[in-house]
Amino acid sequence: MSAQVVKTIFQEVYKTIIEHEDELGKLDSVAGDGDHGIGMARGLKAARKSAEESEGESVANLISNAGAAFSDAAGGSSGALVGMFIITIGNKFPEEVTTEGILKAMQLGFERMKKLGKAEPGQKTMLDTLQPFLEALEHAKDKPLAEAWQAALLVAQKGMEATKEMESLKGRASRLGNRSRGHADPGAVSMYYLLRSVGNVLAHHEGSRST
Ligand code: ADP
Ligand code: MG
Repeated sequence: MSAQVVKTIFQEVYKTIIEHEDELGKLDSVAGDGDHGIGMARGLKAARKSAEESEGESVANLISNAGAAFSDAAGGSSGALVGMFIITIGNKFPEEVTTEGILKAMQLGFERMKKLGKAEPGQKTMLDTLQPFLEALEHAKDKPLAEAWQAALLVAQKGMEATKEMESLKGRASRLGNRSRGHADPGAVSMYYLLRSVGNVLAHHEGSRST
């Protein structure tokens, strides 16, 4: 995977989150403090800038640096958690891009997020999108990345939708307890948009298919 593909991914993810910034803010204001859209947009703008301005860096460093820039700019729980996820993917980025190599890097990022947030899937967070995504990617790990990614996205969408019925047990929204039911978790929704826009870029780049 070339640095250019990764830069395109950051551009695309930023664009998608901007399009959904208000929606994410509204979802966060149901049970949280309403800043999720703003935070994600600010973080991804900084990540995109960091990626764009990196010259001659390895793809791994480009991703880690963008993750650190994201974390600083986004702030809040999602800044720390998604930042950690991106940084770990960069640090563990495989020499040769295969579905399995990317999966391993993402799995480690997921483990670190769980540890950092002291959370598990089922508690109405972004983990509820990510866990089913990674499980499905594991099932499809012998397929080329772009194809495996699309299969996993369908499962991630179900995970994201399932947060509507969950009670929030982590983060700010958990203060509402049972009243947090009825709306999807903002972090679960933004994680889905993030994964979906990465998938769109992968689907349009021949290079990333040659696994
Ligand atoms: P903040 O709660 O600091 O305002 P954001 O609004 O940006 O942060 O993000 C809220 C989202 O972060 C939630 O919707 C949830 O998905 C996620 N989140 C919050 N706390 C945790 C946690 N401990 N573990 C995993 N995800 C969490
Ligand atoms: Mg918030």
